[in-house]
Amino acid sequence: MNISVDVGGSHIDIATVNEDFKINLIYSIDIDSNFRFDDFIYILFDIFGKRGLFVIDKLGFALPGTVDPYRNYCINCPNLKYWKSLDFNYFYQKFRDKGIYIKRIVVSNDCNAGAVGAYKVLRLKEKNIVYIAVGTGIGAGAIINGRLLIGSNFSAMEVGHTKIDRKSYKCGCGAFSCIETFASAKALTNYYNQFYKTTHKNLLSVIEKENVFRVKRLFKRFSKYFSTLISNVIYFIDPDFIFLSGKIVLSSEIFESFLFNDVISKVTMIEGYDLSRIVFLKEVKNYNTYNLIGAVWADEFI
Ligand SMILES: [Zn+2]
Repeated sequence: MNISVDVGGSHIDIATVNEDFKINLIYSIDIDSNFRFDDFIYILFDIFGKRGLFVIDKLGFALPGTVDPYRNYCINCPNLKYWKSLDFNYFYQKFRDKGIYIKRIVVSNDCNAGAVGAYKVLRLKEKNIVYIAVGTGIGAGAIINGRLLIGSNFSAMEVGHTKIDRKSYKCGCGAFSCIETFASAKALTNYYNQFYKTTHKNLLSVIEKENVFRVKRLFKRFSKYFSTLISNVIYFIDPDFIFLSGKIVLSSEIFESFLFNDVISKVTMIEGYDLSRIVFLKEVKNYNTYNLIGAVWADEFI
């Protein structure tokens, strides 16, 4: 039995994942930035105890922050105040004391988990891939020659914090000019609210309630910035596939043609860049399949 835990900034999903990548969601909880790690451990005890999960083959975590996957260590999750300097290896004994035997713990950054999930589910043997998730921020993971790109400071592929020569609002990382302050779902919502003096809580609300021409114009702007990011990824890594994930891809029909045109206009060194390398991972489920699956098998890629 494998258990996967996908931790987001506002939500945690816990699921069983079998060897055929079948997911069974067993628990879902909304959290805020004050959610304590210690409370979370007791939630896990409770779930495992109630379900009779006393032997767990793999317990995988996808975390929204900087993770050292070599020693199962969470360095910092910027949006969760109490999730920093956490050694997940301490779970082995802690669970053992409660009569729960965990054979292996795997801890990953969420986008690295997403990349592994896509690689596994789509059976991408020997392909080099980049997985980009667009949500509140923009994160990414890359698998090159069968290995995740981790980095000396565990910060490789933090593409949302690459800079452009313009200032927007201050980013969650503390800096200005991060691309995610222009091209994330949050950035689009902020920009729209500011420009049209509206009060939408999220991008879906803008898309559903606002005038179609205004929405198109918003996504045209998004494509301009996001294509810069994609073209940078192409020139840095030139992967076989770039997977785009996050709820925003469900609206890809609004911006796909803008985005593709903008990418082509930027990767001029590559004649006839094959746009089928850019793949929208459209998911209608309310959990992230790729994160949940990748969290379990990420250790095969480090
Ligand atoms: Zn930033």
